[in-house]
Amino acid sequence: MFEALSDRLESTWKKLRGQDKISESNIKDAVREVRRALLEADVSLQVVKDFVSAVETNAQGAAVIAGVRPDQQFIEIVHNELVRVMGGDNAPLASAATAPTVILMAGLQGTGKTTATAKLALHLRKENRSTLLVATDVYRPAAIDQLLTLGRQIDVPVFELGTDANPVEIARQGVAKAKADGINTVIIDTAGRLQIDESMMAELAQIKETVQPHEVLLVVDAMTGQEAASLTETFHSQIGITGAILTKMDGDTRGGAALSVRQISGQPIKFIGVGEKVEALQPFYPDRMASRILGMGDVLTLVEKAQEEVDLADAEKMQEKILSAKFDFTDFLKQTRMLKNMGSLGGIMKMLPGMGKISDEQLQQGEKQLKRAEAMIGSMTVAERKNPELLSGSPSRRRRVARGAGYAESDVSKLVSDFQKMRSLMQQMGQGRFPGMGGMPGM
Ligand code: GDP
Repeated sequence: MFEALSDRLESTWKKLRGQDKISESNIKDAVREVRRALLEADVSLQVVKDFVSAVETNAQGAAVIAGVRPDQQFIEIVHNELVRVMGGDNAPLASAATAPTVILMAGLQGTGKTTATAKLALHLRKENRSTLLVATDVYRPAAIDQLLTLGRQIDVPVFELGTDANPVEIARQGVAKAKADGINTVIIDTAGRLQIDESMMAELAQIKETVQPHEVLLVVDAMTGQEAASLTETFHSQIGITGAILTKMDGDTRGGAALSVRQISGQPIKFIGVGEKVEALQPFYPDRMASRILGMGDVLTLVEKAQEEVDLADAEKMQEKILSAKFDFTDFLKQTRMLKNMGSLGGIMKMLPGMGKISDEQLQQGEKQLKRAEAMIGSMTVAERKNPELLSGSPSRRRRVARGAGYAESDVSKLVSDFQKMRSLMQQMGQGRFPGMGGMPGM
């Protein structure tokens, strides 16, 4: 995912590297690359324009930070703006004060709407929310069967009235049944068409009017790129959506949809679909997505390699820890040592973000940064190693660690923030397989 965009941005960073500060001319070059990359990634033109001008303004106003390379600083600016465009924080699903919460699923046929309906039910179960699925696609008998099958598979009841009933009536009765049965959330699967179609829109609007849903989730196929923008526009203006689910993010998709949906509708992407299985649903985190766009690498390959090369039981324990996000600085130290046991640092670093083509000089630099990280961790208290947030919240702690290790406070800040970014990426991987991303502190 986002391959083209990340490649493009990475080559921009390479061009910027070696220039000692952000200047008007290098911003122009970098911004041009960002614009081109976004357009190539099928982001809608208006979204690109807004994005690029915000990045440009931010970059021009950015004070040069001592000790921070301009390309790193630029990445930070682009990263922050990506996060902002994609909605800032994760947006949770609505939960009505009086049950049932009603969720209406909308979208074109084949986008993964029915699958997403079941995925949501499974997700809500983890939050101890019971669900009833409602099948209103009376135009395709296979659609009702599909929902029934999925319902059986995850052990969630499905309400249907066959193919002769009126979809609006099915929805109304479905909600009434959920209320009577004391069910927490009703998810109404609706009929899609291959293209936007007036009667589909009219029916959706009628269902919405009748059941007054707390959520109208537009299911968008992430593979559709630029089309996602016009689709979002139509559904939002005609029906009014409260959020979106971006499906097929596991495929070879480009970045366009993720950036466009929020910008056009003002509504957040709430989940992403990352596979055909019912478990393959994840909350959407703009910052993780932005990191994924900007920082690539192959931490999973690294973990797999570690498993081959070092004591398997140890490595498994470590992997579990990494993926469960309980990973702390103590584990990082242990892992670094484990990596060193694997042999040449060069081979390992090739798997890390942006390290594909690495020179000897860069390698030595990497060794040095690793040593710095080790020294700084060495100056932390046990509590700080276990809980890096202690450091991000306290300049005096950071100063103490910096003094102890013989570095600047900003070095400690960077180590801690890199570490936290890495950990959130790892947490994301723990919730589902995400090849091709990651980052290691101090590298
Ligand atoms: P609907 O017509 O919108 O209800 O779409 P379906 O739920 O029937 O899904 C259409 C196809 O997309 C099916 O083959 C699904 O297995 C597949 N699909 C749905 N979501 C995802 C996803 O997140 N990733 C992948 N790879 N396939 C998906």
